[in-house]
Amino acid sequence: MKQINIDELIEEANRCLSCKKPRCKANCPVETPIPEIIDLYKAGNIEEAGRILFENNPLSAVCGVICPHEDQCLGNCIKGIKDKPVKFHELETHISSEYLKNAKFTQHKKLEDRIAIVGSGPAGITLAFNLAKRGYKITIFEKNEAIGGVLRYGIPDFRLSREVLDNIEKRLLDLNVKIRYNALIGPVLTIDKLLEDGYKAIFIGTGVWNPKPLRIKGESLGDVHYAINYLKSPKSFRLGDKVIIIGAGNVAMDAARTAKYYGAKEVTVVYRKDFEHMTATNAEIQDAKEEGVKFELFKSPVEIVDEGVVFIDTKFVEEDGKTKMVNVENSEKLMEADSVIIAVSQSPKNNIVSNTENIETNRHGLIIIDDIGHTTKQGVFASGDVVTGARTVVEAVAHGKKVADSIDEYCRQK
Ligand SMILES: Cc1cc2nc3c(=O)[nH]c(=O)nc-3n(C[C@H](O)[C@H](O)[C@H](O)COP(=O)(O)OP(=O)(O)OC[C@H]3O[C@@H](n4cnc5c(N)ncnc54)[C@H](O)[C@@H]3O)c2cc1C
Repeated sequence: MKQINIDELIEEANRCLSCKKPRCKANCPVETPIPEIIDLYKAGNIEEAGRILFENNPLSAVCGVICPHEDQCLGNCIKGIKDKPVKFHELETHISSEYLKNAKFTQHKKLEDRIAIVGSGPAGITLAFNLAKRGYKITIFEKNEAIGGVLRYGIPDFRLSREVLDNIEKRLLDLNVKIRYNALIGPVLTIDKLLEDGYKAIFIGTGVWNPKPLRIKGESLGDVHYAINYLKSPKSFRLGDKVIIIGAGNVAMDAARTAKYYGAKEVTVVYRKDFEHMTATNAEIQDAKEEGVKFELFKSPVEIVDEGVVFIDTKFVEEDGKTKMVNVENSEKLMEADSVIIAVSQSPKNNIVSNTENIETNRHGLIIIDDIGHTTKQGVFASGDVVTGARTVVEAVAHGKKVADSIDEYCRQK
């Protein structure tokens, strides 16, 4: 994590051109009012800047650190065409972290209606703040012992400080939000039981926590792990010196960097295409390279054995005017490893849908909602990764804000 340097932040703020039609704002999924925040910061009105950022995005302090900025504010800054773009995200991180640390919220309005929020990841947190501030009685049910979802149990702490999550929790408690930890909704406490107990609306933001398998031989061997399980508690794994990571998204980069961080000597990310096709951002790939992670491209896994992974070479070919990826015949070769981590995306667990009638899912197991976030069951809403599949924090916030409006409307009509 980069240390904050106030002089550098002021310099960055002064470099902003205050564009009339700010492309940074237009390319942010939650339309963060960037020029307005920079003006407030320059005028020394930092608390007001923090308030506006928080009202617009309760996870602003997180987004400042881990959003894919190169595709959003940073990558669209007009300054970046001829010069270096303004690093607004560093300002945002500073302003929003300070605000969260020091602000004290109060629930001014108190309504009788009770709302249950299942899952305390970015989607659940967004809904909880949004609805608690409107006066609803909120209870969060979280299957883990602390809030945050992927922010706490996926993203390594060298990338995102846990202090920010602890401050978010304090602010939720300020607003009378009740949090039930280690409370898995589904098999025992069911959605129907919550409705019976008088929750007027239920929000499901349970994310995607089932690793997608490679479906090749050897995936169940003792030294093979799924990245999403490994990242939850990396200290408890004994990976050995040589680790192979299969995949090329942000989960793969986090697994590779974490394995290095905890002492693996040689960590190699193996991917079947090239750098341009990787879903991890350039910044993540760059960080991994700087930390000594190696990359092997154009290789597809065929089988996992005790000694490592057998890969076959791949290549792009042109066929009928289309580019296709094919295997190179007879190119199979063993790449030795002490352990293998598979990071090829995730899908939802079915604790809730297998224990509840009338919540429909699509063929990937994702919950089906209408355009206001209502599931196929009356009074039950959903958003975040459990609806969209694995995406980003800011997208979970953007959609969560709309679903909060829908739940408010639904409760007021009832
Ligand atoms: C390793 C990793 C790195 C990532 N890096 C980035 C990044 O750098 N930038 C970025 O923008 N995005 C990143 N993402 C994606 C981002 O974290 C997700 O898009 C986001 O967390 C989705 O939020 P969510 O609230 O929908 O789900 P989650 O964060 O998954 O939260 C769901 C919560 O629901 C709880 N839960 C699940 N089932 C139940 C149940 N039945 N009962 C009670 N509680 C339940 C879970 O314990 C969890 O706390 C990353 C994802 C991973 C896995």
